[in-house]
Amino acid sequence: MDPESKTLPAEVLDGSAKPSSLLADTSHPTERVLARFASNEMGPQRKKLIARHLETCPDCRKAVTRFHDIGRRYRDLERRAIQHVASGIDR
Ligand SMILES: [Zn+2]
Repeated sequence: MDPESKTLPAEVLDGSAKPSSLLADTSHPTERVLARFASNEMGPQRKKLIARHLETCPDCRKAVTRFHDIGRRYRDLERRAIQHVASGIDR
């Protein structure tokens, strides 16, 4: 079993819960999960679940955008570092 999956509360399962209670803090994916989602290191089924949550949760959407930015900046830095080293060798 996936250790990160959570059992849904009874009021969600029997349909008596208000939609807002589905968005309780406990239903947010962890930052680690969102980071993996942003860097595409996730199975398609789990990704679909996260994507569905993101549709309803601007907070988590913001977090994923942030992780995307970090990843892009990191790759950019890495590329520049390699170019810097390469130009040093040329001299
Ligand atoms: Zn969320």
